Amino acid sequence: MPIKTQTWYPDTCRCSIEQTHNPDDSGYGVQLSKFLSKCVYHEGLSDEEAYAAIYGSPASEQKRKNLLYGHLISDVGLNLSDSVLEEGQSVIKLKAGVTFQWNYDDSRILNVSLGAVTSLKKTNIQAYCDLQFGIGKVIIQ
Ligand SMILES: [Zn+2]
Repeated sequence: MPIKTQTWYPDTCRCSIEQTHNPDDSGYGVQLSKFLSKCVYHEGLSDEEAYAAIYGSPASEQKRKNLLYGHLISDVGLNLSDSVLEEGQSVIKLKAGVTFQWNYDDSRILNVSLGAVTSLKKTNIQAYCDLQFGIGKVIIQ
């Protein structure tokens, strides 16, 4: 069965990455083919090291951001999201006033501004991040 390639531009840096996938085999997933170009943060790494930094583990840059967002919208105790109906589809969104503004600084620490969230909840979310991704990997503001 044919292996196909696609180009992926992570939203956490300016690398461009060629990946392979197999439309006939979902178990194949998406795999690294090669880096087409590397950003300033990953240019000193081998392709495998850079891919690991971006996508290789729960604490990697893409997954850290996406897992945190998933936690924010799905954790019932935090109560930061609402299920809203859009064009007949139920969609989970952050409540009004709650934001997910993020950026990676030069040390590749994820800084997240949550907007109108109580300091108690922010403390809880920071503790989740420290446990899930390691201390100092995420700064909640
Ligand atoms: Zn990069």
